[in-house]
Amino acid sequence: MVATTLKPLPIEASRIRLSIRSLQTQLVEWRRCLHQTPELGFQEQVTAAFIAQKLEAWGIAHQTGVAQTGVVAVIEGKHPGPVLGIRADMDALPIQEANQVPYRSQNDGRMHACGHDGHVAIALGTAYHLAQHRDQLHGTVKILFQPAEEGPGGAKPMIEAGALENPKLDAIIGLHLWNNLPLGMVGVRPGAMMAAVELFDITIQGRGGHGAMPHQTVDAIVVGAQVVNALQTIIARNLDPIQSGVVTVGTFHAGTARNVIADSAQINGTVRYFDPNLTDFFETRIRDIVAGICQGFGATYHLTYQRLYPPVINDGAIANLVRSVAENVVETPIGVVPDCQTMGGEDMSYFLQAVPGCYFFLGSANIEKDLAYPHHHPRFDFDETALGLGVEMFIRCIETFNHCTL
Ligand SMILES: [Zn+2]
Ligand SMILES: [Zn+2]
Repeated sequence: MVATTLKPLPIEASRIRLSIRSLQTQLVEWRRCLHQTPELGFQEQVTAAFIAQKLEAWGIAHQTGVAQTGVVAVIEGKHPGPVLGIRADMDALPIQEANQVPYRSQNDGRMHACGHDGHVAIALGTAYHLAQHRDQLHGTVKILFQPAEEGPGGAKPMIEAGALENPKLDAIIGLHLWNNLPLGMVGVRPGAMMAAVELFDITIQGRGGHGAMPHQTVDAIVVGAQVVNALQTIIARNLDPIQSGVVTVGTFHAGTARNVIADSAQINGTVRYFDPNLTDFFETRIRDIVAGICQGFGATYHLTYQRLYPPVINDGAIANLVRSVAENVVETPIGVVPDCQTMGGEDMSYFLQAVPGCYFFLGSANIEKDLAYPHHHPRFDFDETALGLGVEMFIRCIETFNHCTL
């Protein structure tokens, strides 16, 4: 199972400045240290303490406990200029690591299987470089170490805690290490980059009974099956075919025995789409379908619909800035994937709703080193060469946005 079969692209060493190249050993060390202590959303105490201890040692002003376990670092330049935010998520997943590496997870049933350990290491490397080059820095860079990206979401609570104020951000950028792209590729595009994530939970209440006497019952399995089938028509028959979206029923639980007609059925699923104008479309269609079918079969139902994350929408001008930076860091033009979209979701979207910015994918798979398992897989790991590339990308974005040479 591989996320990409593409071979890594050669990376020209000269594209990464010497000071960042010499930071590579540290970046790997930090990442591996974090990899060994993965923590779930809003439980990132060890991770936050690791970050704070580094920032403290480098004399970088920072605030801990932002939205519980978040950390906000502020690096003020010597010269006036804009305020740019860098976002790094910190949390791990409830997965048992299957890799047999010296730096494997020490926390049973917890794993950095999405690469957020790498995101923290890249953000720390960026902070360190900025602290060393404060005299050349114009404006301010604020680094937001965010908890709970994998759920229930830490970006929104960070915004509510005032993380985008004092000083107020002019723009924000962020990256995701991406095993769907090989090392040496960057994926970036203006507009929708990742999908909205919405969740639905349906309980269908029928009337159970004897498997041989269906006429005395309302079979929750039969009603539920109609609901599952009808939900497919939202994409096939309601959504403009030029648009894109996903309606996935992930679980269907009903019944206890072969000769018993199910009393109730539980159906859980997720909805994905890019266009913010579709915000009400999916929920309305799902509610109408479930209500109509249940009414037709004499069942009742309970439906909850949750809008978890909005779509990740990149600002056109800042996405172009990131793309032109990427074209100078990785091989041009094959190293930059301009139309990189995924139906995966991310709560970076909340930051991008609040301030203009850009989220991009930094290719991290290396099939030649067997580092190409997909994200959230128990054998996920990435090519750590991407860490230095990530710092270089961020520093060059800061140089371009804040008009300075670092
Ligand atoms: Zn993830
Ligand atoms: Zn992730």
